[in-house]
Amino acid sequence: MALVVQKFGGTSVGSVERIRNVARRAIDTQRAGHRVVLIVSAMSGETNRLLGLAHEVARVPDARELDALAATGEQVSAALTAMAVQSEGGKARSLLGHQIKIHTDDAFTKARIRAIEGSRIFETLDRGEIAVVAGFQGVDAQGNITTLGRGGSDTSAVAVAAAIGADECEIYTDVDGVYTTDPNICPSARKIDRISYEEMLELASLGAKVLQIRSVEIAMKYGVRVHVRSSFNDSPGTLVTKEDEALEGVVVSGVAYDKGEARVHVVGVDDRPGVAAELFERIAEKNVSVDMIVQNVTTDADPRASITFTLGKTDLARARPWIEEIARSLGAREVRYDEDVVKVSIVGLGMRSHSGIAAKMFRILANEGINIQAIATSEIRVSCLVAAKYTELAVRSLHDGFGLGGPRA
Ligand code: ADP
Ligand code: ASP
Ligand code: MG
Repeated sequence: MALVVQKFGGTSVGSVERIRNVARRAIDTQRAGHRVVLIVSAMSGETNRLLGLAHEVARVPDARELDALAATGEQVSAALTAMAVQSEGGKARSLLGHQIKIHTDDAFTKARIRAIEGSRIFETLDRGEIAVVAGFQGVDAQGNITTLGRGGSDTSAVAVAAAIGADECEIYTDVDGVYTTDPNICPSARKIDRISYEEMLELASLGAKVLQIRSVEIAMKYGVRVHVRSSFNDSPGTLVTKEDEALEGVVVSGVAYDKGEARVHVVGVDDRPGVAAELFERIAEKNVSVDMIVQNVTTDADPRASITFTLGKTDLARARPWIEEIARSLGAREVRYDEDVVKVSIVGLGMRSHSGIAAKMFRILANEGINIQAIATSEIRVSCLVAAKYTELAVRSLHDGFGLGGPRA
């Protein structure tokens, strides 16, 4: 008998018929002799609908109330799924974040899980019921409802699996597993059978939303076996696991893209020690994370520097006035913004031991006439910022240029 966590994303619970399908799958797993914990997301589109309402009511909605609102999406799914299990002849109980309890910090809209109490889940299982847990939500030390950031039900699932010592955490979604790139924009994308935590972490942080990045961090930390698969068929999906030799041999294993960043270009600041330190210290003070950074210096008699960096589009609106203020105080001639950009990235463990990968990436983009606006690298990834209109062209040409369309080496 195994203890299994099964998480169903928005599309997988997107209609009454699909909720029934989830219920049947869970009952089948239980009848095969296993104990089952379901984690459910809000029905597809529901979280966006709720957040849209909030922004109609208030220009900058209160973060605590946003979470109280957004968490209702998962409450609806959990209750409906429990009812569906019951009407299919099974036994089930829905459990919300504050009932379990899933303890988080108080960073509303992007809370982090601190601890999960397992007792309520085990009591439910011990009664022979399927435990249906609302994803995405938790409770802070003051009893406020919190949410874990977009895509946070993945994190609920992996964290619950770690907390109760589940044998496996299955993530059911609308694609057959983790692909070499987003199959919805690249027709030659291939399903990957096994991927290391490290590579999955990079892909998730670079925009592959199939798993929320925090869920991969937790899986890696606690060694949770994660199986990403389709809720619409029974084919085996992708196992996210410890790296092994087979995985080491692959130079580039995936391509990701992220349209969530905007570019800021601070033109003509003084070229002296301390300018970059001051600019980025003052941005960090406002709790805004900066991603890619490029600095250029002119070689005129009066050397001036230009600093380009990227930050999340959602931070840009509130950051703009004080970025301008800081830039002015550093002698900047002007500040330019560009939201029509995309960050495309290649990821692979084998980059550690192969040279020339970045150069090959730049050549592939150049051959398509795509100009690179900023570059960032780490041990196992290279990212380039390019105009957003090239998203599909850049992803497809890199994917095929690195041979990802063919059989995996
Ligand atoms: P869910 O609602 O089940 O959580 P998401 O929409 O959050 O599903 O994540 C699944 C989507 O992630 C897919 O439909 C696909 O468009 C996107 N995606 C991006 N990159 C990848 C990738 N490398 N492999 C698989 N899916 C990806
Ligand atoms: N419903 C939440 C969202 O849309 C959480 C999730 O689906 O994982 O972001
Ligand atoms: Mg998701």
